[in-house]
Amino acid sequence: MNQSTRDQFDVLIIGGGIAGSLAAWTFSRDGLSVALIDEREMAAPFFRAERISSLAVGEMRRLGLSSIVDQFALPLESTAIVKGARVERVTTEVDYTFPLWQLVNKIRETFENNERVTLIAEKVESVVNQPRQQSVKLEASQRTLTGKLVVVATGASTAFLKQLGVRREIISRNHSSTFGFDLETGPDFYLPASSITVRICRDGADYMNIFPTSEGGYRANLFTYWPAGDERQREFIKEDPTAVLQRLAPRLMLTTGEFRVKGAIECGSVSVMKSTGYQQSGFVLIGDAYGRICPCAGRGINKVIQDVLTLKDLVPRWIAEETALTAEVLQSYYHEEKREAFEEWVFEESLTLRDRIVENSPKQLLRRVWYHHLPPKVHDFYWNHFKARRAGSVVSAKPEGSNPSHV
Ligand SMILES: Cc1cc2nc3c(=O)[nH]c(=O)nc-3n(C[C@H](O)[C@H](O)[C@H](O)COP(=O)(O)OP(=O)(O)OC[C@H]3O[C@@H](n4cnc5c(N)ncnc54)[C@H](O)[C@@H]3O)c2cc1C
Repeated sequence: MNQSTRDQFDVLIIGGGIAGSLAAWTFSRDGLSVALIDEREMAAPFFRAERISSLAVGEMRRLGLSSIVDQFALPLESTAIVKGARVERVTTEVDYTFPLWQLVNKIRETFENNERVTLIAEKVESVVNQPRQQSVKLEASQRTLTGKLVVVATGASTAFLKQLGVRREIISRNHSSTFGFDLETGPDFYLPASSITVRICRDGADYMNIFPTSEGGYRANLFTYWPAGDERQREFIKEDPTAVLQRLAPRLMLTTGEFRVKGAIECGSVSVMKSTGYQQSGFVLIGDAYGRICPCAGRGINKVIQDVLTLKDLVPRWIAEETALTAEVLQSYYHEEKREAFEEWVFEESLTLRDRIVENSPKQLLRRVWYHHLPPKVHDFYWNHFKARRAGSVVSAKPEGSNPSHV
């Protein structure tokens, strides 16, 4: 990382994951000076978003990231929704798959030659926040940086947020577990489209995506509502994962031909949570630092982008007009109409999707029949006439493919 002796910036961004890196990229293109501080020199490989919606990729392109995205992103031109042994329909919305950590590193690399962005590989120890000037103290060097605004993009961890007086409200504890794994395919293996989404809807499992990788193999993401430590999770990771998949989707191989799970299984278990106590002067929370939604909703990156787009409209003006960044002023970010509508939608969707799979109340049983046994055309009609109106900018169309339960 390029170190600088400069200590004064327009914006100090803490956390260089996808949220912090995108924010730094965007602000620097708007002419602001930025310090991007992350405790890690480079993002290490991590299991996260492996499939990104076309809407999110489209927004990244509009932010000027086309050439970087094109280096990694493998377009999935079509997705077959498979139920039992039947292809219910084939969608033509293009989703993308790429390793998120590589994208993050590639964005960070561009800052090496960007005089507006200073990358600092250090852990932030503390922040002093005031309406007009913020100071951030780095842990190892004890160096102090100042800026007009602090953007906190430290992800889902609570450790750093605590010292800002920000707490995490758990909305749904131990909400879901997502698995990523490679497939070893038999000679007759076949996907009826570029990728498939298998609707499972049984035993706490929602759906599974199978898609090709840029290395020429196949990969799968399984989305379940198994809590961390659940017996089913243990059985899947430690015993016979292929047998578990055959139990969850007994007729799938009639469509795809034979495959088996190969190598290590990666797993991410999450609680759905939102921050509280952030209504203070001097800093804003973005991405998972503001709140974590369920990966089954497949919209984490869209949420990150919506936060960055909202700040893009506000921050350059605040800096140019030397606005005092009081808690009241910063509310215009949290309550911006599109951002707020999207936030409300993704959190609600995280809970609704789970209830639809795991709850056994009469209402949820009826919903299961509605969502999983009625023909897709009925869902299309419902979505187009009622639901779509509520979705914000980066979710303006019906989310296809990445989550069939959205219909
Ligand atoms: C298992 C799983 C699967 C997912 N799948 C999808 C998907 O398919 N599609 C989708 O759209 N979304 C998905 N998501 C959601 C998406 O990955 C996240 O919403 C997104 O990565 C959050 O990015 P972030 O930058 O806010 O946080 P992070 O990626 O967690 O970045 C936080 C950064 O802050 C740094 N940091 C933390 N504390 C400090 C400190 N004190 N000082 C300095 N640096 C610090 C860390 O080193 C890290 O680099 C998934 C999430 C999970 C858990």
